[in-house]
Amino acid sequence: MGKLSVTMLRYLTKEDFRILTAIEMGMKNHELVPGSLAASIANLRHGGVHKLLKELCKHKLLSYERGKHYDGFRLTNAGYDYLALKTLAAKNIVAGFGNQIGVGKESNIYIVNNEEGELLCLKLHRLGRTCFRNLREKRDYHKHRRQMSWLYLSRISATKEFAYMKALRDRDFPVPKPIDFNRHCVVMELVQGHPLCQVHDVKDVEALYDELMNLIVRLGNYGVIHGDFNEFNIMLTDEDKPVIIDFPQMVSTSHLNAEMYFNRDVNCIRDFFRRRFGYESESFPTFNDIMREDAVDVEVSASGFTREMEKHLFVEMGIEEEVETEDELTEERSHLANDDIEMLRQEVERMVCAEYECKDLKKQIHFQNDEFVKYDQDNV
Ligand code: ADP
Ligand code: MG
Repeated sequence: MGKLSVTMLRYLTKEDFRILTAIEMGMKNHELVPGSLAASIANLRHGGVHKLLKELCKHKLLSYERGKHYDGFRLTNAGYDYLALKTLAAKNIVAGFGNQIGVGKESNIYIVNNEEGELLCLKLHRLGRTCFRNLREKRDYHKHRRQMSWLYLSRISATKEFAYMKALRDRDFPVPKPIDFNRHCVVMELVQGHPLCQVHDVKDVEALYDELMNLIVRLGNYGVIHGDFNEFNIMLTDEDKPVIIDFPQMVSTSHLNAEMYFNRDVNCIRDFFRRRFGYESESFPTFNDIMREDAVDVEVSASGFTREMEKHLFVEMGIEEEVETEDELTEERSHLANDDIEMLRQEVERMVCAEYECKDLKKQIHFQNDEFVKYDQDNV
């Protein structure tokens, strides 16, 4: 996985951002986006665009590939990272970039700071490159959409994580304070502490065990199951207070397999306490202990954006039938209707304006904190 070259961010111009956004838009219905399409979506002169595209490829934010039917550009991981980071910088959420503190199986975690110098945690979601491969290969004609789906999966994952974190934080659960998200990137409070997997001594093992089990039940009462409640996703502060992290896989207690997920979370904690602290307790919660008092699950899914996204994703994965046939897709690839270009252009206009252009350009990422840049280099 390529390391994020943060210094590059400084040199990205408004036009670069516009082109990257145009490619992102084009990828909604093209595996590879032809340069001419990028130019018309970005609404920039064709001649100038060519040079910019070349530069972006040189810096590996885009790649140029030869397809079966035509050649074109696609966003790389780094390109997608830059779109998200630049946007968060323009919104004054993130001002400086620090070192990487974690590599999960489906994320990269960095320390960042804001303009006040406050340290925050930035999580880049990275999904869709391996987990859905098998499913997708069964449906050969979906292969050409693979590129699109990693953008999509990562974005859904981040969106979902933010939505759950916010709903839980609003209800006083011990979770990091969610700050903002964009695309596949979530910014949250940096928890001062260590993941439980690194902790070998706690003052009161029994109290911690009870607190964690109570959290599982309380989540249940609010309609949700964490789904990955283990020593890697529980942080412990210096005062031995647990903070729960990592939410993209949360499920509703109305889920078909809710009881199984619930028991699995409970057993993760029991196993860990037995292994790590030699602690075993007769008392542990069961699914029947749940008493509904709130509906975080409904709140999150009713907020619409994830449901719509999920539906789209199921089509992507071939779980639901899609309307288009292969013939229609081929046709779509060979010529894009003017309406589509106009629609995409308007969308770029909207995104770019809302997130970037209207902001004071001086507010682009600036690295007033030298330590951050140094940190980053040390980490190579
Ligand atoms: P993944 O989905 O890849 O497992 P996690 O959200 O669990 O990602 O984060 C991976 C690791 O990064 C965690 O185990 C923890 O060490 C660190 N981490 C994640 N979020 C925070 C945070 N808000 N504050 C401090 N450390 C964090
Ligand atoms: Mg995790």
